[in-house]
This record gives sequence, C-alpha cells and structure tokens, in this order.
Amino acid sequence: MVELTEWELEKFKRQIQIPGFGEEAQRKLKASSALVTRVGGLGGPTAMWLAAAGIRRLVLAHGGTLTPSNLNRQILMRGDGVGKPRAPQADETLRRFNPDLELKAYGEDAKPHNVAELVGQVDLVCDCSPDFGERLLLNAECWRQGKPMVEAGMNGMEAHLTTILPPHTPCLQCTVPEVPDWWDPLGFGVLGAVPGTLGALTALEAIKVLTGFGEILAGTLLVFDGEDMTFSKFAISKRPDCPVCG
Ligand SMILES: [Zn+2]
Repeated sequence: MVELTEWELEKFKRQIQIPGFGEEAQRKLKASSALVTRVGGLGGPTAMWLAAAGIRRLVLAHGGTLTPSNLNRQILMRGDGVGKPRAPQADETLRRFNPDLELKAYGEDAKPHNVAELVGQVDLVCDCSPDFGERLLLNAECWRQGKPMVEAGMNGMEAHLTTILPPHTPCLQCTVPEVPDWWDPLGFGVLGAVPGTLGALTALEAIKVLTGFGEILAGTLLVFDGEDMTFSKFAISKRPDCPVCG
C-alpha cells in the first residue's frame, strides 16, 4: 500500500476526516487510475472532481475541436479556445489545477481500434460519452477485461447513473440492446448544470468503487430529474439473452 506524504495529508485532510473514509481510502485513491471518455459537459466535471480527490492517474479520450455551443457546459475548455482541439485544453486545465496528477489525454474518442488500449491501462472507466455506439463499445470492452464501468447519461433535464461490475451486475447492453433509433447526437438540449451535477455524482461513484467506501449503484439505476429536483432509484436486471453478459 502506498504511503501519504505530509503534503497529501494536509491537502486531503478535509475528506480524510469523513467517518469511514480516512487515510485508507486516500491511499487507495493514490494507487488508482481511471479513464474518462469525453471530457465535455459531463466528463469534464467528472475528471475535475477525480483530480481534486487525489486519484493518481487519469486517461482522457476526447476528439474534435471546441465550438461556441460547447461553452455553456464544457468547463475544462477555454473561452479563447474555439476552433482548437478540445483534449489539450482539458489536459492543461487539469494539470494547472492538480500538478501532482498523472495525465494522458488522447485527442480522439473511444473507437474499435483504441478501446482495448484505453481500457487496459486503468482500474475503472467513467463512460461520459453521449454516443450510444461508443457507450456500447466501452461496455463490451470493460466486460471483456473485467473492469468496472461507471455509466452516466443525460438528456435534457434528466440524468441517469449506474455502476457495471463484471461479472456481477447487468451490463449496459441489457438495458440498451442496440443504438436507439431515436437518438441524434445533436438532437438533445443541455443546460450545463445538469451534466455538471451528473459529473460530480459520477466522480463520487467512481471514488466509492475505487476505495470501497459507502454503497455503490451496482445493479441500481439512479435517475435525477433537474426540473423537479427529484432523485429516484430503480433496480435493473440482467437480460438472459444479452450478447455481452448473458
Ligand atoms: Zn448485459
């Protein structure tokens, strides 16, 4: 088990003092790594809160360049960064915030040719992609490699969160058998504070999975409705004929 330095004990003392968390959970975080796929409105805050909590290493995967309409939610980006690649902007923001963080930022999304490499170098995956094809790809790879995946998704004012733990829980493909025909990558509205809230919850869930602290959403779907401010939880079950986990 890694030891904490005097600097780390001081930096993280406010979370170490939480009952049940303590130095043990902090040492586990210091030995942990996570992949965050897409670091936009959802994955950006997820990565930021993981960096703040003291995770040792983050791997990011996010392609594309910054557009004006990204700036209502993509808080790792720069106001003067429109037209420039997004991954280096997220990399710079996280490094300035936490110089102790080990960070590797890929300038492309998770795709069939890189997904094994992305998943293979971390302890846990935070799936923050809005693309159902990419999410199902990550789900299958996490299942193949036996890596936990915190699965986050949102649409308008509603947000969903669950944790997939191979081979124990249902997987994403149990509830989303294929890319839904209603889905359009640019067809849903986003108010930044909704993915921001979900990003914080995603990081909190990842911290709990990595440290064993608290209760996690394994086999449970958390639904947050930002319009009426309700949180609901539902049990989800394995689909016997699921091609990934069945
Ligand atoms: Zn399944």
